[in-house]
Amino acid sequence: MTSPATGPDVTDLAGRRVTVAGLGVSGVPAARALRGLGAEVTVVNGSDGEPQRAQAAELEPLGITVRLGDGDTLPEGTELVVTTPGWKPTSPLFLAAAEAGVPVWGDVELAWRLRGVDAPPWLAVTGTNGKTTTVRMLACILEAAGLRTAAVGNIGVSLLDIVLGDEPYDVLAVELSSYQLHWAPSLRAHSGAVLNLAPDHLDWHGSMAAYAADKGRIYEGNQVACVYNVADPATEDLVRAADVEEGCRAIGFTLGTPGPSQLGVVENILVDRAFVANRQKQAQELAEVSDVNPPAPHNIANALAAAALARAYGVPPAAVRDGLRAFRPDPHRVEHVADVGGVAYVDDSKATNTHAAEASLGAYEHIVWIAGGLAKGATFDELVVSAAKRLRGVVLIGADRALIREALARHAADVPVVDLERTDTGAMAAAVREAARLARPGDTVLMAPACASMDMFVNYNKRGDAFAAAVHDLASGRVPDDR
Ligand code: ADP
Repeated sequence: MTSPATGPDVTDLAGRRVTVAGLGVSGVPAARALRGLGAEVTVVNGSDGEPQRAQAAELEPLGITVRLGDGDTLPEGTELVVTTPGWKPTSPLFLAAAEAGVPVWGDVELAWRLRGVDAPPWLAVTGTNGKTTTVRMLACILEAAGLRTAAVGNIGVSLLDIVLGDEPYDVLAVELSSYQLHWAPSLRAHSGAVLNLAPDHLDWHGSMAAYAADKGRIYEGNQVACVYNVADPATEDLVRAADVEEGCRAIGFTLGTPGPSQLGVVENILVDRAFVANRQKQAQELAEVSDVNPPAPHNIANALAAAALARAYGVPPAAVRDGLRAFRPDPHRVEHVADVGGVAYVDDSKATNTHAAEASLGAYEHIVWIAGGLAKGATFDELVVSAAKRLRGVVLIGADRALIREALARHAADVPVVDLERTDTGAMAAAVREAARLARPGDTVLMAPACASMDMFVNYNKRGDAFAAAVHDLASGRVPDDR
């Protein structure tokens, strides 16, 4: 295992030999940026397919060397490795770098080091679930306050492009994954938030402790606020472990009544008892629960976290309300597709792990649950126990559906289960028809699979699209041919 070392001064990269590990959405901008600084850049990539060749053809005219088909060997004379997020810390390339005393930085580390002297501060968000939603809410709130901002980072907008671009910003709303945090040793955000911590990506990190420690890096050097989840004490532990700037405060968010230095909920009002003059006695109203879209409990938690970061930056209460009202969720995240026969159909295809599915299952009273896919090593007992009372029925799809079926047999034996063996493209339509059969008026059919989608679909977007198409067919009375 390598550890990210200090490395050369970025103002002095001219002529230095830098190896970029990986192409793709962060490798290509990193290679360009480094070349722009005069570095001798080699990009290495294990796979050698059509998309990689196209990217190579884009980079080579700039004087960048691209080596496809070997991602393991460290190019001769490398002085710095810049890695894209997907590469495991145990990759042979990094072991070779460690042996040679060569530092490894992620694209976020590089962006952080390349930002100018007057660079906008970063309000940073991580967590197992809710990052994208929270960062988008935060950007809406900052915009409502009249600030020039953008939602960037792991959300699909390269921080390097932002840092090196001409567009002026006052402040950035930054989503960071645990991978990115792992390779960003010198990052010092204005304020940071860890939304929640549940086992995920443990194959990459090696252990839950290592995963948590990487998430906790977001608090290092915070200047104003370390925002944690009162309901998830592991996030508060990470705040305690962090080395922050003098005067930086720990700010909790809770779905209950907030204590001093917390944001929370009182009678359907989101309130701030942290960034007010007299927090022992006073609380500031920020917004109503109905301003949060959708107003499911986990999403109210996201809104409170976004509000805490915005308030830490000095945003007035009215902008929190206006920003939350302006926010529209990304597709496939607890998205209401249609009502058919008095039954609501909800697409939460982005629930690719049990923690996310538990949040959306907790938001409805009577549910027909469509679940299954690739379990990624997860167990389902806890999830089934938490949801059992709400389940009207379950329709199982995908490769690892037996794991969920067995958990249901153990903890919810009375709940009717339809086990769909087929994994062809028409399977989702069949699942929706089965769910419709099980549902009663007033129920919700919730597709929150608690599993990854790649056994049956290209990605979670396509899985959500298939669900929505099947619901629309159901609404219009159309029955696809492949019954
Ligand atoms: P991320 O960027 O961390 O993947 P998203 O905002 O895209 O997070 O949401 C991913 C999934 O997690 C969705 O299925 C959503 O319903 C669920 N989710 C969102 N916020 C939370 C939360 N605070 N706690 C648990 N699950 C959540």
